[in-house]
Amino acid sequence: MTERPTTTTNAGIPAPSDEFSQSVGPNGPLLLQDHYLIQKMAQFNRERVPERVVHAKGGGAYGVLQITEDVSQFTKAGLFQKGAETDLLLRFSTVAGELGSADSARDPRGFAIKLYTGQGNYDLVGNNTPIFFIRDPQKFSDFIHSQKRRADTHLRDNNMQWDFWTLSPESAHQVTFLMSDRGTPASWRHMNGYGSHTFLWYNADGAKFWVKYHFKTDQGIKNFTGAEADAMKSVDPDHHLRDLRTAIASGDHPAWTLQIQIMPFEDAAEYRFNPFDLTKVWPHGDYPPIDIGKLTLNRNPENYFAEIEQAAFDPANLVPGIGASPDKMLQGRLFSYPDTHRYRIGPNYLQLPVNRPKAPVHSYNKDGPMTYVNSGDPVYAPNSMGGPVADPELWKGESYAVAGEIIRSAYVLHPEDDDYGQPRTLWEKVLSDTDRAHLVANIVGHASAPEVTADMKVRVVEYWRNIAKDLGDHVAKGLAVNGS
Ligand code: NDP
Repeated sequence: MTERPTTTTNAGIPAPSDEFSQSVGPNGPLLLQDHYLIQKMAQFNRERVPERVVHAKGGGAYGVLQITEDVSQFTKAGLFQKGAETDLLLRFSTVAGELGSADSARDPRGFAIKLYTGQGNYDLVGNNTPIFFIRDPQKFSDFIHSQKRRADTHLRDNNMQWDFWTLSPESAHQVTFLMSDRGTPASWRHMNGYGSHTFLWYNADGAKFWVKYHFKTDQGIKNFTGAEADAMKSVDPDHHLRDLRTAIASGDHPAWTLQIQIMPFEDAAEYRFNPFDLTKVWPHGDYPPIDIGKLTLNRNPENYFAEIEQAAFDPANLVPGIGASPDKMLQGRLFSYPDTHRYRIGPNYLQLPVNRPKAPVHSYNKDGPMTYVNSGDPVYAPNSMGGPVADPELWKGESYAVAGEIIRSAYVLHPEDDDYGQPRTLWEKVLSDTDRAHLVANIVGHASAPEVTADMKVRVVEYWRNIAKDLGDHVAKGLAVNGS
């Protein structure tokens, strides 16, 4: 038999017992001096960090991104140069459910990638849909509240969800995806990932482009029907987590083909859709997707809490060659993601092994709770002590002109901007007859929950009629709304 190590306290001191607390006689009271017992209880009380307010339930794995095509005319980012291979962590998740909730719930799925590049971490924090429910971060917390739990009963409430959606017509495109079978993927391996936002790329000469990322599953799209997804909730609530771990452990490494859509910088102003509106796609016919590489997952984490629960993705982590766009949702996320990590994990979350860049860090930021490493002296800039100096040349190309009044307003409409056109195309031109039948059934099922009021059902029918009359009529029939 192999020799077993001695149990220790967290300080490495040999533990006195795995079984017995220190007491006054075998039947007597316990002693405050039993530091080992107290440390065990105190640490247990602190085992959880605050749950993510969104994307709480998830799983992930490590892998690599390989670039196979030359896109140096669009970006100088090292990780996107032909032949580059970059280690990464990918975390999948549902959005609205809590940590223990079922993986097969109807929900968008997070598709968050942390790329450990030679120029620091590049985080691409996307979803399995190319769009989102809203286009201004002012509405984000309200939207999430409407999808989570009521204040009085602590129950989720479909009436509240439809109330928000029907009062927010910009949600129509994403709700169409959500209610289709893509709202219930069969596994994380069988869905696409999208960067969703538009980002800025600039090349070594400073020429600028807008870019969208699409990670197409090499496993093929597979979805559950609404009934299959519901059944899986009780058969195996952790089905997606188990599926990913099992596949990788058995050597079946899932892969995604990375495609980009590239828009010349100047096209944005006159494009028929606002290219920064997160509720819109760029139709493939306008900007054809180009294959540029392959993302493969090949290694499971060894400790879920350390490597997945404490993983912290940040859309503001952009490396030279890549910048933000004026997408208002992206602008809001640039603040809110690092802010939530500081709250949830602590201000030094970037020092944890899973979040720590593989590139060297030379920052003048220092100290705070759980500091593990600081850059050392000098602790200020400018200095004459040989400390690090910024290189603005690396960021040449990131800048562009913006001017205007400071106001609160909707986006200026581009010629074909409206909330219903793109979901109408999805309904009329993309979905198969089976997809369409399932979409209607899923909507009717969701809006038939007992808490959905008769008035709300009328609004639900109107919402879908705005997208397409026949779609609304099918929903009206399913909900037995008068006049249908
Ligand atoms: P295309 O015919 O060129 O592309 C349609 C795309 O729709 C497909 O490439 C596929 O994207 C996606 N798709 C296929 N089946 C489904 C489904 N059951 N549910 C959701 N999406 C599906 O048309 P356009 O580019 O002009 O887009 C037409 C509509 O397709 C859009 O209004 C949008 O609703 C939807 N769509 C468009 C995407 C885009 O980036 N242009 C991406 C996804 C959907 P994929 O290969 O990414 O799965």
